[in-house]
Amino acid sequence: MLRLLPPVLLVVFPVLAFAAKPANPWSKFRTPAPGTPLSIGKPSAGCLRGGEPLKESGPGYVLARPERRRNFGHPRLIALLKGLGTELVVEKKPAILVGDLSQPRGGPTLSAHASHESGLDADVWYSRPKPGAPKSPRWIRKHVAAERMVDATGFKADAVRFGETQIDLLRRLASRDEVDRILVNFPLKKFLCEHHASEAWIRKVRPWYGHDHHFHVRVRCPEDDRSCVAGEPIPEGNGCDATLEWWWSEEARGEDKKNTDREEHPVMPELPKECAALASP
Ligand SMILES: [Zn+2]
Repeated sequence: MLRLLPPVLLVVFPVLAFAAKPANPWSKFRTPAPGTPLSIGKPSAGCLRGGEPLKESGPGYVLARPERRRNFGHPRLIALLKGLGTELVVEKKPAILVGDLSQPRGGPTLSAHASHESGLDADVWYSRPKPGAPKSPRWIRKHVAAERMVDATGFKADAVRFGETQIDLLRRLASRDEVDRILVNFPLKKFLCEHHASEAWIRKVRPWYGHDHHFHVRVRCPEDDRSCVAGEPIPEGNGCDATLEWWWSEEARGEDKKNTDREEHPVMPELPKECAALASP
């Protein structure tokens, strides 16, 4: 609504103008930027050259929301998701629903995410079709709902929903070398600590806000991609320590509120210089 205010009002009420969403060219692109694939910058401030689309559906996977057009990624990410889908088909396991990847040229979305900008991130739903359910992508999209994996308090995993079907996906992905990390809602990490503490892969599964009906998988920067900026390295150990307990603290709740504020009043991140060349049609 704020964007529709006439300029005179924006002058009179500059505070309102400040609250309006910043202009964002990245959401308008329909095609990837040509060139060899490059993940430029960071997932939270970056862009994507040579992005590859993940089709609406393929063996073992279905895009959950194809109309959002956030189905582009670095070929390394696309290969990971397709590879997982194929593995599930071979083993006769239910397909996965894939949520957002990046926009065709990456860049900020200014809604729902503060990452997914450089083609290395994908959201995958925890919910999957039941074994024996119809395999048609249309049926799956219509009938499989994204269920929350935590209980009503938001502080504890729902052990009925968050079961081996979900943990198996996390295990398969986290065990792959090209996967940098996976973000899950913090009670789910706690659940893994309580039941799978001795399994090395849980180190890569990191506690975060949200991510209670989908998890977020990030692949590493490709070794030959010098424009790609890797995130903070994951600390040693399985992460089942005092740093995990912090998520139940008052301080953590305060940080959560800041996150929500940022979603309501998004700020355009400062992107690497190389992104400017990709931002023209
Ligand atoms: Zn995500």
